[in-house]
Amino acid sequence: MRRIHLLATGGTIASRRGPDGLAPVTRAVDLLAAAGTPDGLTVTTSDVGTVGSFALGTADLLRLVAEVHRGLGPEVDGVVVTHGTDTLEESVFLADLVHDDPRPVVFTGAQRPSDSPAPDGPANLAAALRVAASPSARDAGVLLCFDGLAFAARGVRKVETLRSGAFAAPGRGPVLRVTGDEVTALSRPVRGTPIPLDLDGDLPRVDVVPLYLGADDVLLRAAAGAGAAGVVLQAFGAGNATPAVAAAVGDVVAGGIPVLVCSRVPAGPVAPLYTGGGGADLARAGAVFAGDLSPWQARVLLAAALAVAPADPLPIVTGHLAVDGTAQDPVRRSPRPGAGPASA
Ligand code: ASP
Repeated sequence: MRRIHLLATGGTIASRRGPDGLAPVTRAVDLLAAAGTPDGLTVTTSDVGTVGSFALGTADLLRLVAEVHRGLGPEVDGVVVTHGTDTLEESVFLADLVHDDPRPVVFTGAQRPSDSPAPDGPANLAAALRVAASPSARDAGVLLCFDGLAFAARGVRKVETLRSGAFAAPGRGPVLRVTGDEVTALSRPVRGTPIPLDLDGDLPRVDVVPLYLGADDVLLRAAAGAGAAGVVLQAFGAGNATPAVAAAVGDVVAGGIPVLVCSRVPAGPVAPLYTGGGGADLARAGAVFAGDLSPWQARVLLAAALAVAPADPLPIVTGHLAVDGTAQDPVRRSPRPGAGPASA
C-alpha cells in the first residue's frame, strides 16, 4: 500500500459557481471523494487554503512549499497538491527549486469547476495520485500532472486559457504519460542543485518588465525605483529590447540590480545576438540570458537566488540555467552597487 498526502489550496478544481462568480470552496477531503482513491493507495488530506491562484503572493508561495515539506512526513511516499492553474507554473517551479527528496511532489488542478457538467478535476487528481505513487516519478523532482500528462517543473507553462490540455513544456515535452492505471515514463527531467531557501518570511521583490513595439525605459526604471532587487525582461524574440530599454539596463545593472533576459516567445532559448538594442547590447550592459525559462519562472529563480545570496545571486542563477544546456552563454557578473556595466 502506497501512502500519499493530498494538500488542497483552492483554484478552479475546488470552485463552484456563486452569486459573484466562481469561488474555490471545496476541501481536500471532498476533492478526494470526487476523484476516488486509486487502488493500492492510502490518501490523507489537509487544506492549506481555498483561494484562486491569481490571488497568491510570494509569501503564500513560501508557506505552501513549507506545507509540502511538512506533508512529506516519514510515513508518506509522495505528496499531491491541488492548485489554481493561473500561477501553477510558478508554484511548481519554486517547490522544485528547493526540493531535496527522492519522493515525488505532484501538482494538479482543473480548467472546469467542480460543479460543471463535465469537470476535469477528478480525473486530473486521480492521475496525479497515481503519478505520486509511481516509481517512475521518483527522483524526478516536483511535477505538474494535467490532462493525462506529467511535466517537469522547469519549462512547464500554461498554454490554454480554457481547454482541458492547459499545460505544455514547449521544446521539452512531458516526462510521464498516465493512461488509466498505467504511468509510462517518457523522459527524465534534468534538475539543478536544490536551493537552501528559508521558507519563513517572503521573497525579495523581482519585477518582470515586458517589451513591446516602441517600449521606452519608464517601466524598467520604475521597477528599480520601486525597490526591485532584480528584474526580468520579457524581451522580444531571441532576447532583444528597444534601444531605450537596452540603454537603461546598463544603469540598472550598474545600480546593483541583476537583470535576466527571457523571451515573450513561448518556446526556445534566448541568445545575445543583435546590436542596436538587441541581445548583444543587453549582454554588454550586464544582463544575463535565462535560457528557455519563461519570464515567470526566471523571476522565481532570481528571487530565490537573491533570498539566499543577496550580494551575489548570479552564480546560483547561472548554475541552474547551465544544467540542461539551454542557457546560451550565461555570463557570471557580480551586481555590486556602483560597479560599471560589465562587458560581454
Ligand atoms: N483559472 C484558475 C484555475 O484554473 C483560477 C486559479 O488559478 O485559481 O484554477
